[in-house]
Amino acid sequence: MQYFKVKKNKQGKKVIETQLAGKPILTIPQLNKGTAFSQEERRSLGLLGKLPGRVEDLDGQVQRAYQQFCDYTLPIHKNIFLNVLHNTNEVLFYALIKKHFKEMMPIVYTPVVGDSVVDFSKSFRQTRGLYVSYEDIDNLEEIFQNRTNQDVQLIVITDGSGVLGIGDQGVGGMGIPIAKLVLYTAIGGISPYNTLPVVLDVGTDNQTLLDDPLYLGWRHPRINEKEYQHFIEKVISCIKQEYDRAFIHWEDFSAKNAVSILDRYREKMCTFNDDIQGTGVVALAAILAALKRKGSNIKGQRILIFGAGAAGCGIAEHLFHSMIKLGFTEQEAKDQFWLIDRQGLLFDDSDNISQVQMNFARSKDERPLFNEYSLHGVVKVIKPTILIGCSAVAGSFTDEILRDLASLVDHPVILPLSNPTERAEATPEAIYTATLGRVFVATGSPFPAFSFGGKAQVIGQCNNAYAFPGIGLAVVAVKARRITDEMLYAASEAICDYVVNNKYSDQLITPIPEMSVEIAKSVAYAVAKKAVESDNAGLSGDPIKLVDELYWEPKYYPVVRG
Ligand code: NAD
Repeated sequence: MQYFKVKKNKQGKKVIETQLAGKPILTIPQLNKGTAFSQEERRSLGLLGKLPGRVEDLDGQVQRAYQQFCDYTLPIHKNIFLNVLHNTNEVLFYALIKKHFKEMMPIVYTPVVGDSVVDFSKSFRQTRGLYVSYEDIDNLEEIFQNRTNQDVQLIVITDGSGVLGIGDQGVGGMGIPIAKLVLYTAIGGISPYNTLPVVLDVGTDNQTLLDDPLYLGWRHPRINEKEYQHFIEKVISCIKQEYDRAFIHWEDFSAKNAVSILDRYREKMCTFNDDIQGTGVVALAAILAALKRKGSNIKGQRILIFGAGAAGCGIAEHLFHSMIKLGFTEQEAKDQFWLIDRQGLLFDDSDNISQVQMNFARSKDERPLFNEYSLHGVVKVIKPTILIGCSAVAGSFTDEILRDLASLVDHPVILPLSNPTERAEATPEAIYTATLGRVFVATGSPFPAFSFGGKAQVIGQCNNAYAFPGIGLAVVAVKARRITDEMLYAASEAICDYVVNNKYSDQLITPIPEMSVEIAKSVAYAVAKKAVESDNAGLSGDPIKLVDELYWEPKYYPVVRG
């Protein structure tokens, strides 16, 4: 069933055409304007008498919605309010969050989205996106045909197995694709009429969810490896059949599945894993910016990554490929990495080591160099110039470790990237205190400014939210066929350049929310240019113009009967 179509009228202006009339129009968020329907639209769409008489404009609606938002005190209630608005009137939702972006970003995205995912079954009110359950494996075509947006160009998809730092959240993982797409639209300017959030419900191994009588997903342990691979293959084939060249963004899969899916599909379609590639892009941007501020470069840096899962290994891979691009040999690049996971420092004879971890494991011959393989033990021996946390182990960068590090290395770069806030390896304030401020810091979740040395310290966020909206905008604007390492490196450079030349602070190495839209556009220009130069774009023409023309701002289009 096609509920509506966005098209151009004879004057070349965009309108929304629908065959629906009356109440159903007010229940479809892409169509609903609420009190902003004009008298003419009310008459032609069967809405007379269904709305209060006064016709409002979008600004007036935003004002009321903001007052309603402010009536809630708990962040989770604010999140629920915004979700309901999103599912009621999409244009109003985007106009509101764009106007109050700094205040609302942490509510719709990290950290509050983590709470909303955990609360999913309890707080479920209205539905959005597609729920693709393994139980429906024989009905996948029908499910994908049942979408509301017909012209899908961007899909964010999760199986809820590795959500933020909170692990397996089953069907509740749907909150993440929805939140990512909100950022794609609010920051990246991708029209919400072209997006689709998808959750793959393949069971859950989270016993709390399985025991919860309100749990809304499939009450079944996660399916086995063979069933899973078969299911993914079927899903991809349906997506290809239904949406032809849609860009697929994989989000919050467990590390093993994230890597295998990316490896399997990255050369076959335009696909991107945010936890691996997006995180790599922002981490490299932060490192490049810190090194620029230090007057140094990547050669000879000692990079220690604590938590070698999807994000940690993704960062290592992106840095590694970037070093190769800069002319390092594979061995030279590899020698600059040390990875620690649950077993301690990873060696090539470590137990339970994955293939991607093995790429960065140290030779077993180096074992005698270390008294202990713990974070502290490794810091003392290798004296890392760059320390990255992707473990979701709160407080693991202890004061003692930080103090020792600062005494061994001049201005180390410290990136506690774990989310949500309470999972951060250290708070920025604790890092400044322990190192006497002789550091470059950026965090995964937002932290408030704090006072240090008589100055307010503002810490930027090293979050993939500063990468994926611009990458997606570029991909959709030029209809990119693939995402290449060169395109990702261009994204890192664009973020770094913007931050180093920013007008807010000469301490920042990563962006702050005020920069979001401009950074997304800079990233999009750089990535789109690279796609065109490398013959990866499906559209020819000036990539900058293509990006600018695509950029969507929330405003009402006339709704007409089709
Ligand atoms: P993951 O589960 O794939 O990886 C976490 C890794 O940490 C695992 O390999 C695990 O074995 C390891 N680990 C757990 N306890 C440990 C310990 N005590 N010592 C050493 N290693 C330990 O998860 P992920 O997707 O890689 O995400 C990890 C964290 O990074 C999460 O908190 C996530 O929110 C965050 N993250 C941040 C960003 C960002 O942009 N800032 C992006 C992606 C992920």
